[in-house]
Amino acid sequence: MARRTRAKYCACGCGGLCKDQWLPGHDQRLRAAIEHEVGGLIELRRIVEERLHRSIDPRQSRKKGGSLHRHQANIFADKQSHIHRRSS
Ligand SMILES: [Zn+2]
Repeated sequence: MARRTRAKYCACGCGGLCKDQWLPGHDQRLRAAIEHEVGGLIELRRIVEERLHRSIDPRQSRKKGGSLHRHQANIFADKQSHIHRRSS
């Protein structure tokens, strides 16, 4: 029986299979390799900025994941228990 796993190839190109986009640490490994290739993070930034025709502001780059599930908490806040009291 062939079980269907949701394994994907690691995005770094190592050929390893992983559930997510990366094998553990491989995103950092790729980043380090790119930095090494271009001559450092500053040079990498310069190249990317040149390519995008705009400057990269590190202060604006922290919306990576998170806060997506935040509104789900409201579902529970809406669940109130109503106690009906008999008044006769
Ligand atoms: Zn990899």
